[in-house]
Amino acid sequence: MTGADPLVRTRLRVEQDVFAVRQLGREVGRLVGLEAQDQIRLATALSEVGRLLVAAGRDTEVVFAAAPDGVPALTVRLEHAAHGDADRLAAQLAQVGRLVDSMEVRDGEIGTVVWMSRRLPPNAPVLSPDRMDDIRTELAGHVPGTPFDELAVQNQQLIATLDEVRAQRDDLARLNAELEETNRGVMALYHQLSDELEETNRGVVALYNELDEKSVQLRAASEAKSRFLANVSHELRAPVTAIIGLGRLLSDDASDPLTTEQARQVELIRGSAADLLSLVNDLLDLAKAEAGRLEPSWSDVDLKAVFGQLRGTLRPLAIRPEVDFVVEEPAVARLRSDEVLLAQVLRNLLTNAIKFTAVGSIRLAAAQVGDAVEFTVADTGTGIPPELQERIFEEFYQVPGSQALSGKGTGLGLPYARRLVGILGGALRVTSEPGQGSTFTVSLPVSP
Ligand code: ADP
Repeated sequence: MTGADPLVRTRLRVEQDVFAVRQLGREVGRLVGLEAQDQIRLATALSEVGRLLVAAGRDTEVVFAAAPDGVPALTVRLEHAAHGDADRLAAQLAQVGRLVDSMEVRDGEIGTVVWMSRRLPPNAPVLSPDRMDDIRTELAGHVPGTPFDELAVQNQQLIATLDEVRAQRDDLARLNAELEETNRGVMALYHQLSDELEETNRGVVALYNELDEKSVQLRAASEAKSRFLANVSHELRAPVTAIIGLGRLLSDDASDPLTTEQARQVELIRGSAADLLSLVNDLLDLAKAEAGRLEPSWSDVDLKAVFGQLRGTLRPLAIRPEVDFVVEEPAVARLRSDEVLLAQVLRNLLTNAIKFTAVGSIRLAAAQVGDAVEFTVADTGTGIPPELQERIFEEFYQVPGSQALSGKGTGLGLPYARRLVGILGGALRVTSEPGQGSTFTVSLPVSP
């Protein structure tokens, strides 16, 4: 073995030597720091190997050595001066080999060699050259006992081993009891957890029921609101129309002449009534859309015609020379949709763009994107702050401080437009940057 320094040598000739080798093995084991159990294992292995070698006749040289480098270990080499028996010996030693970490049997130069090694425990003293010398000196003074002494020692070891086995059995019983206890604890915990889970589940189910109930109430409230709005707007329309008519009558040339102040006041009344009528009309439209009373009438819509109409009706509104009003040729010729509702949405978006764009351009375009036709209304107007880009779709919401360049608004245009697009099976969204402009996109499925 490489790196193994011999500690002591001895010879095996007769049976008595087997006891001596056994004793020596235990002593060497003790001196290099093997634990008591390992000393006995090594000694037992040695006495078994020794017994077989002595029975086979001839001399055996026994060399104890320590390998201090790498994994510190105690090694023993038994060289038997007879050849060719390695295989049979190896078979006989198969059980014995389990007592040490490794055992090899082979044919060497002079005869059969048995080599065995046992690792030293991590807490064994370091085998420095000085320590090795000390061990050698001590071993030189080692006086082998008689076979009787060895028998006594073996008996003691047997008793100690039996004690240890009993202690281990007791330990095992204790561990088993502890394990059982722990298992009981785990089961109790498991039951407690399942109870808690069940409780929580019941709570969640109750919560869901409540949620369902609330959403039913919410739907009912929303329907009531739509009904109320529709009724009120409907009822308001007649008196407001009457006020406008009366105002017209009062300021008519055929009527009695009014003073300048009276004429101004009648004009104010007519203006206010007209605003009110447009609000009432918007409200009525929205209420109808919300109440689900708007049924689209589907047809093959000629987009070119729709765009042409929008161009014609809205250009007169886009009177500012600093703003380019462009209605592009649609890249898609036809679409299955409701022509009136679609035109209403696009008109609404274009009117907004005109209201909020002082310079630059307003552009309407249509293109196919995947399974949808996308209409875009892009302007270079005031833009909308990111945090308000969803709020502008709420009823009556207007961006604070946003001043329409022309006309007044009610804050109902966008919510209405989004409703209509929803009815047409599509979606309306906006991207915008304050100071740069906004782009509203209406995306409608090619086949709704
Ligand atoms: P209205 O235009 O009648 O006020 P809308 O619902 O159409 O109501 O629009 C809500 C608000 O969204 C507007 O008051 C305005 O503040 C903002 N807005 C809509 N369109 C644009 C746009 N193209 N550019 C800038 N702001 C816009």
